[in-house]
Amino acid sequence: MVEILDFLAARTDRLRVSEVRDLLRWITADVISFGGGLPDPTTFPTDKEIQGIFEFVQSVRSKAFQYGLTEGVPELREEIVNFSKKNGIRADIDQVLITTGSQQALEILARIFINQRDVIVVELPTYVAAIQAFSLYRPNYIGIPMDEDGLRTDLLEEELKNLKKKGIQPKFLYTIPTCQNPAGLSMSIDRRRHLLELASQFDFFIVEDDPYSHILFEPIQFKRLKTMDHEGRVIYISTFSKIFAPGLRVGWVIADKDIIRYMSLAKQGMDLCTSPFSQYVALYALRSGIIERKLPMISKLYKRKRDLMLKELETHLQDYAKWTKPIGGMFIFVWLLKQIDTKRMLLKAIKKYKIAYVPGRSFFVDGTGWNTMRLNFTYPSEEQIEEGVRRLARAIKDELKEL
Ligand SMILES: *Cc1c(COP(=O)(O)O)cnc(C)c1O
Repeated sequence: MVEILDFLAARTDRLRVSEVRDLLRWITADVISFGGGLPDPTTFPTDKEIQGIFEFVQSVRSKAFQYGLTEGVPELREEIVNFSKKNGIRADIDQVLITTGSQQALEILARIFINQRDVIVVELPTYVAAIQAFSLYRPNYIGIPMDEDGLRTDLLEEELKNLKKKGIQPKFLYTIPTCQNPAGLSMSIDRRRHLLELASQFDFFIVEDDPYSHILFEPIQFKRLKTMDHEGRVIYISTFSKIFAPGLRVGWVIADKDIIRYMSLAKQGMDLCTSPFSQYVALYALRSGIIERKLPMISKLYKRKRDLMLKELETHLQDYAKWTKPIGGMFIFVWLLKQIDTKRMLLKAIKKYKIAYVPGRSFFVDGTGWNTMRLNFTYPSEEQIEEGVRRLARAIKDELKEL
């Protein structure tokens, strides 16, 4: 027998199967899951829209079925320039890179920026898949807490001063400023301004991950960090996953053209190009107005589901927990009483109470968050949301009795 472990590269010690994923295998058909992070499939293209999509792909078949440029299909990059302009972001086509989901953008950024022990700053809590992408390159994380106004830039400033005394300069700060995953919080405009000032003063990049700002449930005042960036410090990432369909695996980056050039070189070694087939589908979805028509519908549907989950939480859990009221995105983040360990509670919640969620600890790079959980409200049906919160409340009360 070959001993695989003797052959694996040292960095694979960061490729751990998550214990949570291990627990989620107990999920059976009778379990209601708030654990996923999936869009509601009723938001996907209709039969008629799919027909339009295929007719379009047919008309560009010599390109859609061929290899494409690493930077992306030029017509799509052009369309992203137009879409961004509507969002206040001005960019030339050579500042746009199409990626295979925004996940690939995170992996590419890790590849081109992170040396072992480099300092990367993230929010507490933050997006697990970003941590996964970065961790293979062995950075040291600094986690900065958030409050109702998002990232605590005052604490960030303190931390940056401390680091500077030690001669340490972070490579980049990774943030989801609008409808943060998992916390559901959004950064205030003043904090955004402060963050950009700090980036300039202490000289680091900002990675702005922005999958959710296109579908807000309430009109709020906000500005994408990229629109406030005068020094080319913001690397902006977005995706078709939450506004159209995650199955396409198409995302995009807007950044300084020299960064795009390096990112493109790194991407070449990963997949040569993002599927031109998918890119033409995305192009059609933008050009034909499918996405523009869909956004208000998605926002209305998700707002209704969010409101329902909030109402149920209020009814069943108000003595045991507090939670965020997200203005967009797909998640409500919950803080339970301190004595509850949500990871320890999960197996019983699934097996006995038939309810699943994601324990929050893996979202915190500083090892805190044991009493938190993330609840998804976009994928479950409205009946499942009502019944699921009731089950969750029973599981929590049972757990408290046993402590
Ligand atoms: C859903 C999500 C994405 C999307 O990733 P894709 O690879 O584009 O599907 C990116 N960042 C965050 C924070 C998300 O929640």
